[in-house]
Amino acid sequence: MARGTEVLIIGGGIIGVACARALIRAGIRRVVLIERGELGRQASRAAAGMLAPQAEADGPGPFLDLCLAARARYRTLGAELRDATGEDIEYCPWGLLYLVDPAEQEAARGRAAWQRSAGLRVEEVSGQALRGLEPALSPDIQGALFFPDEAHVRPCAVLRALAADARQQGAQLLENVEVVDFILAEDRLRGVRAGGETILADVVVACTGPWTARLLDLLGHRLPVEPVRGQIVRGRFARPPLTHLVWGPLGYFVPRLNGEVLIGATMELAGFDATPTLNGVASLCEAARSMAPSFMAAPFDKAWAGLRPRLPDGLPAIGRFPDIPNLYVATGHYRNGILLGPLTGELVAELVLEKRPPVSLDPFSPGRFFR
Ligand SMILES: Cc1cc2nc3c(=O)[nH]c(=O)nc-3n(C[C@H](O)[C@H](O)[C@H](O)COP(=O)(O)OP(=O)(O)OC[C@H]3O[C@@H](n4cnc5c(N)ncnc54)[C@H](O)[C@@H]3O)c2cc1C
Repeated sequence: MARGTEVLIIGGGIIGVACARALIRAGIRRVVLIERGELGRQASRAAAGMLAPQAEADGPGPFLDLCLAARARYRTLGAELRDATGEDIEYCPWGLLYLVDPAEQEAARGRAAWQRSAGLRVEEVSGQALRGLEPALSPDIQGALFFPDEAHVRPCAVLRALAADARQQGAQLLENVEVVDFILAEDRLRGVRAGGETILADVVVACTGPWTARLLDLLGHRLPVEPVRGQIVRGRFARPPLTHLVWGPLGYFVPRLNGEVLIGATMELAGFDATPTLNGVASLCEAARSMAPSFMAAPFDKAWAGLRPRLPDGLPAIGRFPDIPNLYVATGHYRNGILLGPLTGELVAELVLEKRPPVSLDPFSPGRFFR
């Protein structure tokens, strides 16, 4: 039996779900998303939820601009999603303290300088002022940069809210169905094979994270996405012991409203193995000890891992696939998929509707790997 849709999205992480919501809200009548497991059970659930372009970017340019636009998008997204679905994404615009190692002072001054020239807010904080802001931080830390506009969210709540809104608007999000092949006729896709069925589609969007290389291999094209494992440890406190995100040379803290503190994250090449390891947990505990020794007495709650999708240049691929005009790709969001997810969905919707996106996507074209 064959069924059909206008847009078929493959992959139900934050990127796929954000695309489904944006496409159905943009007026496309039939949107189907196919996820081989449960929605958001891979990297999108493992993430810490920082919206932190000023800590992440290494300099000005199109990637910083994309990340800043994505951060700005979150300012209204929380209220939109709460009104539409009742779900609270725990948007916390608390700012980020970027701890400066004595050996890194020159680099930190450089970071502050280029960010100010780019019009971003940066404050320099002495060691004493830092402990006034966050008494739990180690007295050995001699200073920090403060980025007051950074924020964080709870990623699984973002995913739940985007999915609920997409469904309410009429998108079909199917779980436990795997896309196993494409149906190609001349240079266009006619659809996919999934769950023993043929699903016909006018447009296909591949949002399959680190599995995108395997998926596109089915078409004889290799997009070089690879998995980079990240582990996180969670401690639990009676009340939040921090009032900012804290980013150090060895790791970061993400405080949640309920007193949980995430300690993240490792960066490892371990293939598709998303299991946390004792080495990973030990290195994160060492990072936590160096930043806030008193945290080591907190009850250990949980550890987990996920696979970040990374392309060789570290930038996402968002756009039409070369040679197959009705195939789009949105992947490679690497360390910033939660930040970039909602905006990516809206940009993909603009592309599919053949509108001009508000942010130039040329630097992120999947075609850059096929020239
Ligand atoms: C430890 C860690 C911390 C992180 N912290 C942050 C952070 O603080 N801020 C931030 O912005 N980002 C963060 N990230 C990055 C972010 O989590 C990722 O960039 C993002 O989740 C990627 O989303 P995705 O939808 O592309 O991939 P995924 O979430 O991996 O989703 C892809 C989906 O495709 C499905 N799929 C694959 N093949 C098929 C198929 N053939 N058929 C059907 N379905 C298929 C998979 O089952 C999966 O559910 C972090 C990541 C990790 C691991």
